[in-house]
Amino acid sequence: MQFNELNLIPPILKALEQENYTSPTPIQQQAIPPILSGKDLLGCAQTGTGKTAAFAIPTLQLLHKNPRAGRRNIRALVITPTRELALQIYENFCAYGKHLPLKCAVIFGGVSQKPQEVALQKGVDILVATPGRLNDLMQQKLIDLKNVELLILDEADRMLDMGFIHDVKKIIAKTPSQRQTLLFSATMPGAIAQMADSILRNPVKVAITPVSSTVDAIGQSLYFVDKSNKKDLLLHLLKDKSIESVIVFTRTKHGADRLVRHLTKAQISAKAIHGDKSQGARQTALQHFKNRTLRVLVATDIAARGIDIDELSHVINYELPNIPETYVHRIGRTGRAGQSGVAISLCDFDEKPYLADIEKLIGKRIPVIKDHPYPMQQTAPTPKEAKPVRAPRNKAKEMERVKPKVKVKG
Ligand code: AMP
Repeated sequence: MQFNELNLIPPILKALEQENYTSPTPIQQQAIPPILSGKDLLGCAQTGTGKTAAFAIPTLQLLHKNPRAGRRNIRALVITPTRELALQIYENFCAYGKHLPLKCAVIFGGVSQKPQEVALQKGVDILVATPGRLNDLMQQKLIDLKNVELLILDEADRMLDMGFIHDVKKIIAKTPSQRQTLLFSATMPGAIAQMADSILRNPVKVAITPVSSTVDAIGQSLYFVDKSNKKDLLLHLLKDKSIESVIVFTRTKHGADRLVRHLTKAQISAKAIHGDKSQGARQTALQHFKNRTLRVLVATDIAARGIDIDELSHVINYELPNIPETYVHRIGRTGRAGQSGVAISLCDFDEKPYLADIEKLIGKRIPVIKDHPYPMQQTAPTPKEAKPVRAPRNKAKEMERVKPKVKVKG
């Protein structure tokens, strides 16, 4: 199928051609016609399937074909969980709509509000926003959603994970009930299914790549290794020069920072992106990664969600995620839009239960690479008392003040 079989208007077809998109992806084929006919839609699809274009293209066309006279108002609102994803969606709207007289703006937290206010005052047709900043601006009466015709909730499951669901519900309540609503989610936890039931009217349901079926184009492999040797195994793996650019996933922000220090010491260009980094630092790291001046991007899951990097060949799970779906999201960073990719996972003894959950979810065993210089020596779980136990932050000071009750006899 070609894009010109989807009844798209010439300015959009021209933009798609300039993006070098030749044929629509499955979600685009299935979602664009019902959205154009005004239907609500429930899309079960993960990042990498082309879902942004699946909602952005018909949104642009609908707004353009039904122009409104007078001052520009927000007619389409896209809510998405992360800043990176918001920027990405905004850039896609700009690209697909570049031959249309529609205005798009993006707002997210962590940066000054002023330029976003100015953009809004000038008038926008399409607003892409993260829930926190959108709510802030709504409370300050800087945003009015009463003209919203199209509401798009993107990565709804992630918004739930990140604790945004109340913000999202407050936002939805401020939009007109007579609207077209599109909801996209990679997984369908109960809370999202319930929300979908309450906000969508007779939705067309489109499901692409169920989360349990990992993209076939991705070559997966697994290395069993002791935790203490993971850093060295990573350096060993990075000797492979065919790994030109790679996202390395860690579970924690501190873990990401430690790993970057280790890689930098070994003369490997690496930067971390996570929630503690300023928006500017994240953007710079991402930019350097995209233009290949940075070889390794170390990321936590939330920060990495929604980053769109063309031609990412490798993903390394330095630590396995404790939520099995996250594994699928992570490795889905490669193999995007039909490209092949490689996903390497390092698993220490204590992560074996996570591995079992992942393999259950994806319905297959990840091939194990046995021949490597750091084979796992540990044969039993790390005893609890051997793990460093940190006092809760607010109690730490109190504990310092408490004198030991028992004196050690010397
Ligand atoms: P998404 O799932 O929206 O994050 O899109 C994943 C990637 O696929 C992005 O880099 C898009 O630019 C690209 N893409 C989306 N649709 C197409 C298409 N029809 N042909 C080629 N690339 C596409």
